[in-house]
Amino acid sequence: MGGRKNGYGRLMVDGKSLLAHRLAYALANGPIPPEAILRHICDVPACVRPDHLVPGTHEENMRDRKTRKRDLRRNLAERCDPEVRSLLVLAHGQWP
Ligand SMILES: [Zn+2]
Repeated sequence: MGGRKNGYGRLMVDGKSLLAHRLAYALANGPIPPEAILRHICDVPACVRPDHLVPGTHEENMRDRKTRKRDLRRNLAERCDPEVRSLLVLAHGQWP
């Protein structure tokens, strides 16, 4: 079953532990380059909304944290519902 580590949702698929947000993004948009990280534009690590995730580099991720506006983050974060959506992905095996 899923679990939490460092605030990220995790799922077990085929005996492998996957990060829930990477799975949700891949289901919605196709494979993620292995070297890419997914940036949460809402800054909610447990969020699995594909429209809150953009592929990028670690450097871009660090830059985001300095430059992104707090108001934008808060507005997005209110729409995340990470627990509910993680459970939906877990239950359906895909983005509902
Ligand atoms: Zn989000």
